[in-house]
Parts: sequence; structure tokens; C-alpha cells
Amino acid sequence: MTDIQSYDVVVVGGGPAGSTVGGLLARSGHRVLILEREKFPRYHIGESLVTGMTPLMEELGLVEELDRRFQHKSGISLRWGKDPQPWRSDFSSTGSVYSHAWHVTRSELDELMLDNARTLGATVLEEAHVTEVLVADSGAVTGLVYTHAGERYQVDSRYVVDASGQSRVVARRTTETQWQDDLRNVAIWGYYDTFTPIEHGDDILCEAIEGGGWMWAIPLSKDKLSMGLVLPAEQLTELLREGLSQRDIYLRGLAASNIAKTMVNAADTQAELSTARDWSHLSDTFHGPGWVAVGDAAAFVDPLFSSGVWLGSSGAWLAARALNVALADPAHAAHALQRFDGVYRQLFKDILTYVRFFMDPNRLREEYMERAQEVTQMYTTSSRVGFIALISGIGAVADLVDFDPMGMEGLVEVMTERTEQAKARMEAEAAAATV
Ligand SMILES: Cc1cc2nc3c(=O)[nH]c(=O)nc-3n(C[C@H](O)[C@H](O)[C@H](O)COP(=O)(O)OP(=O)(O)OC[C@H]3O[C@@H](n4cnc5c(N)ncnc54)[C@H](O)[C@@H]3O)c2cc1C
Repeated sequence: MTDIQSYDVVVVGGGPAGSTVGGLLARSGHRVLILEREKFPRYHIGESLVTGMTPLMEELGLVEELDRRFQHKSGISLRWGKDPQPWRSDFSSTGSVYSHAWHVTRSELDELMLDNARTLGATVLEEAHVTEVLVADSGAVTGLVYTHAGERYQVDSRYVVDASGQSRVVARRTTETQWQDDLRNVAIWGYYDTFTPIEHGDDILCEAIEGGGWMWAIPLSKDKLSMGLVLPAEQLTELLREGLSQRDIYLRGLAASNIAKTMVNAADTQAELSTARDWSHLSDTFHGPGWVAVGDAAAFVDPLFSSGVWLGSSGAWLAARALNVALADPAHAAHALQRFDGVYRQLFKDILTYVRFFMDPNRLREEYMERAQEVTQMYTTSSRVGFIALISGIGAVADLVDFDPMGMEGLVEVMTERTEQAKARMEAEAAAATV
């Protein structure tokens, strides 16, 4: 082990959540180290974005680059529920200025965001694998141990941010998480070089499959389509036990679809498909003494509405503002981090509750829309608008953009405390003057 390094904040993971929180804190003048296990660009699933994350992309100065590099996405096309007809929802119908999102190659997006964190002033170390979380007797997280190029290093920091995705490097040590058993799914997916676009060619397609599960189709470009099948884990285990391969199971799903199967030639399906666990969970807390968790490390919601990158980077944006307060004035750390936790938790809960409702395929389109409008009633009185406002994240933009880690309640506390301090100082000065 070499000399101990010291930073204000160390971030585990350089995905969208880690690069956002690290970059924004560095821009505010804090000394930030981001430790990333892989060498970027690296492959990642999670390729379709929503408009709710555009304000953050503006804040990070990345919108033009996203427009230049990636396929625009106008909305979502669905074949879902009791209505036999496909239906769609367009981002532009929210009335927001953010009328398109993007379908992205994640290796490129994540590299762009990590490079941007460097530009904003963070120190980024790739191929740095965090192996230990340092916890003081008091229970506070005080730093990390990582390996890099065969050497072992210790780094101490005022805060450690867990942005390690599903690895949950810090959170698995510091908090329990609630695994959502009814959303315990598995995804199997592959790519096609040739495909027939659906009517609204730049939408994501989400299609429920008779017999269970659903399929996505994401047009990454004119000659690359990402297509995947999501199934309850139990169902997959049963089919594997019956002797089917993962590819057989995927092809069965494709054959049972109505729209997805018309987009591709099943014979073009790759011999080796990718697979990942897709199990929703919610940590009991997103922060504790010396640590904060953001992105999949904090919570994960089924990818049905393509909300993962939006939720992860939005939480990171909230965390950066709360940590900014906590670093500047430790007396207000607890309050600021509690507010971050509360606002962030509500984002997850709204999507999680709605995904659960939507997973029931026996409802009518209008029922899905009305339920969404109940969640977004502060934003709209229209169920049609409420649906897209909820699943695009647009309904929550004001909460994110205007987030104030101190809040009104906090401001009153700060002012009272400062007044008390000023009074005490004046009394002390007056007492000293009379001596
Ligand atoms: C099947 C499936 C489909 C999905 N589809 C979508 C979609 O269409 N749209 C969408 O928005 N989201 C989607 N998601 C979700 C999305 O992939 C995640 O929510 C998102 O990547 C979370 O970002 P993150 O920064 O929290 O974590 P990640 O992007 O996973 O980044 C974490 C980083 O931490 C690093 N790391 C891990 N352990 C260590 C360690 N010990 N030391 C150092 N570094 C470490 C990893 O290498 C990684 O780079 C999907 C997820 C699944 C499973």
C-alpha cells in the first residue's frame, strides 16, 4: 500500500450516475475522485432515454453532442393491455419544450459523460477496482481501498458516493435493500443489422407477450436494432428446466409477439444472446454517515419505461446539490441529505408503483392512463398527458430543477441558528468590552 490519498468526495463507478455527481461536485470546487473498474468505452445495457433527463443534459452542456451522435426518440409505441390495437404516446404531447429524447449506444454515452466529468474538474481513474469500504468504529464511512495496475491504494474522503450500479459496493455494506419479489425478472436480448421499422420509426416499442413477459425494440440507428425479451425469473427457470436454451426461449417470445416479429427475420437472431437479471429493489436509505448512494446502487426499477438512466442521473444531480451543502457546512449535512433522500425516493416510488400497476396486462388503455394522471395530478388534468408526463419524467422536472437541499424549513433553521450565533457573539463582545 502506498501513501494514503485524500479527497473531499470519492465516487465508486463512472456510469451515468457516478459521472454526474462527480462532475457537478468538481465544478463546484470540491476535490473529487471517480474510481471506475472498467476501461471506457465499455458495453452496457440501457439504451433508450426519456425526455425528463434533458434539463440535466443541458446543465452538463451535453445536449448538442447527444443530438449530433444519437438517434432521436419521439415517444413510445405499445401493444399492451386488453385493447388489441397498438397505441402510442408522444413526448411532445406533454407541452414541454423537451419533445425528443435519444436512443443511445451506452458505451458512447457513458464515455461522453465520464469525459465531461473530467472536463468539469473531477479526477477519473479507470481500471481502478474498489475492493474495500473503510468504516470507522462510529459506523461512518471514511474511505475506500482500491487496486490499480497491480497496486493497492487507500483513499480517505469526507464522503463516499456509491454509484457502482448493481454491484452496490457501499450500499450492500451500509443498508438493507427491499427486493421486489413480484418484479423479479430476467432479460434476454440481441441486435439486428437489418430490420423493418414500425410506423413511428423512432419510437421504442414495448409489447406484452401472450403467456407472460414483454419485448422491447429500440432502433439505435437505421442499421442497428436492439431487441429484448423480459420474463419473470421463475418462468425462465421452468423453461430452462424443460430443456430449452435461452435462445429458444427468446425465439419463442419473438414468435408469440404480434409486432416485434414483423420487424426482424428470426433467422438473423445472434447465436449468443446477452442476458441480465432485472430485479427491482429499493434501499432502506440512500445515505448515512459519510456515504450516499445514487443510481442502481440506490434502487432499480424494471426497465419497462426506460427510466433507469434518468432516475440514476437525476438522483446524482440531487445528491450533488445536497453534498455541496453538506461539505460547505457540516451542521446542515443531515438536513440536506435527508431532503435528497426524500425527493429521490419519491421519484423511484412513483415509477415503481406505476410499473407494478402497468404490469397487469388485463387493463384497458384508459385505465393505465387514468392511474398515471393520479400520480401527475399537479402537472396535468389530462390522463393522456399524465401518462407520458409520468413515464418520461417530465412531470417531475420541476422537483428536480428547483431542488433546494435546505428548503424553506431548512432556511428557517439556518437563519435562527445564525441569529443565535450572532447574538452570542455580540454578547461575548459586550462582556469583553465591560471587563
Ligand atoms: C435489461 C435491462 C434493460 C434496461 N434498459 C434501459 C433503458 O432502455 N433505458 C434506461 O434508461 N435504463 C435501462 N436499464 C437500466 C440502466 O441500465 C441502469 O439503470 C443504469 O445503467 C444505471 O446507471 P448507474 O450509473 O447507476 O450504473 P452503471 O451504469 O451500471 O454504472 C456503474 C459503474 O460502476 C462500476 N463499478 C462497479 N463495481 C465497481 C467497483 N468495485 N469498483 C469500481 N467501479 C465499479 C461499473 O464498472 C460501472 O461502470 C436497463 C436495465 C436492464 C437490466
